[in-house]
Amino acid sequence: MEKIKMNKIVEMDGDEMTRIIWKQIKDELLSPYVELNTEYYDLGLPYRDETNDQVSIDAGEAIKKYHVGVKCATITPNAQRVEEYKLKEMWKSPNGTIRAILDGTVFRTPILVSGIKPTVRTWKEPITIARHAYGDVYKASEIRNTKPGKAELVFTSADGEEERLTIYDFECGGVLQGMYNKDTSIESFAHSCFKYAISTKQDLWFSTKDTISKKYDQTFKLIFEDIYNKKYKEEFEKLGIEYFYTLIDDAVARVIRSKGGYIWACKNYDGDVMSDMVSTAFGSLAMMTSVLVSPDGNFEYEAAHGTVTRHYYRYLEGEKTSTNPVATIFAWTGALRKRGELDGNKELMEFADKLDKACLDTIESGRMTKDLVGLWEGSEAVALTTEEFIMAIKAELDKAMA
Ligand code: NAP
Ligand code: MG
Repeated sequence: MEKIKMNKIVEMDGDEMTRIIWKQIKDELLSPYVELNTEYYDLGLPYRDETNDQVSIDAGEAIKKYHVGVKCATITPNAQRVEEYKLKEMWKSPNGTIRAILDGTVFRTPILVSGIKPTVRTWKEPITIARHAYGDVYKASEIRNTKPGKAELVFTSADGEEERLTIYDFECGGVLQGMYNKDTSIESFAHSCFKYAISTKQDLWFSTKDTISKKYDQTFKLIFEDIYNKKYKEEFEKLGIEYFYTLIDDAVARVIRSKGGYIWACKNYDGDVMSDMVSTAFGSLAMMTSVLVSPDGNFEYEAAHGTVTRHYYRYLEGEKTSTNPVATIFAWTGALRKRGELDGNKELMEFADKLDKACLDTIESGRMTKDLVGLWEGSEAVALTTEEFIMAIKAELDKAMA
């Protein structure tokens, strides 16, 4: 069989257990079928340290050039990692670095298989959460006042104009918080959301609390509305998808009653809280994919989970682990499918679909990794090691490719 050809994508290798799985996926599930054409960046912690983290920046710039990237999970260093890897510095998270370069929004989507039912019984299709990962309470300034006094909100413009509001005249101690966001960041968030809705042909929901926050949240609402009307409305109507704004509390009620199958865009804090709720209710972090979408249309795919450190330490002791590779496989297929879509490479897109299906078919036949066995509601499930599971997927894939 001739291998499928493709244009270049950016490949970012990572750390620990996911680095081991990364190679297995390439060797068994990708290279035998596709002439993999990647620009390789080693984001494993030792090489990040060696290059003073320049490699993370280079990888981000490369995604801008090729528009599609796939990333393995990486360690975000903390004090313990600095010690463990004898690092020169406590390097920043590569995800943060790349997100800053691409100015993107992260979309997280669960992978559904029949046999593992979401806790919410009406959910039949995935719900994708888009979190605005900038500003608000995450960049707030706070005061804990223990004495009575007057709290004011003051804005002095660059040309010297002053706006002043009394927040509260304290007759006792209390708490105060000042937070902000920027038009440019909200606009990028909106563009990424509309672009991703079009790219995946799904409705987009957006929710804030603009009835209470009449300037702050209202601005989010108006910026989204304006960008939608000016730039995306026509395309949405052509595709038969909808942009839908509602209050956050109404959105929560609707989400629980919905059957899924849409993107839910959330402000920073709402997204933090709701993404944990949605992912837990769908079952497993190991079955959650993540894609970073930039406002100018660059895509970076990865698994939502980390490097699975606990399994890696067991692997180093010679134990065979049962680490779930599905989200990492879906990161690859997401990137290959997007590459195919951008280039009109139908064969590559079909390959991605077949590999996705081979994963789901394997699980649905009762063969899976240990993490899923506990969630499984079908008839008898067998727990396989990562290697056995990947080989079972390969057998399914071979059938589909024949
Ligand atoms: P984690 O790697 O997601 O793993 C936490 C636990 O979740 C694991 O111990 C395992 O539970 C379960 N799990 C996660 N993925 C799994 C999979 N594919 N198959 C089976 N079980 C899975 O999170 P962490 O241990 O908190 O973080 C480890 C490292 O990852 C950290 O250095 C962190 O900085 C990094 N991290 C990176 C990213 C990223 O690159 N996007 C994201 C998050 C964390 P059991 O042990 O109970 O089996
Ligand atoms: Mg959280």
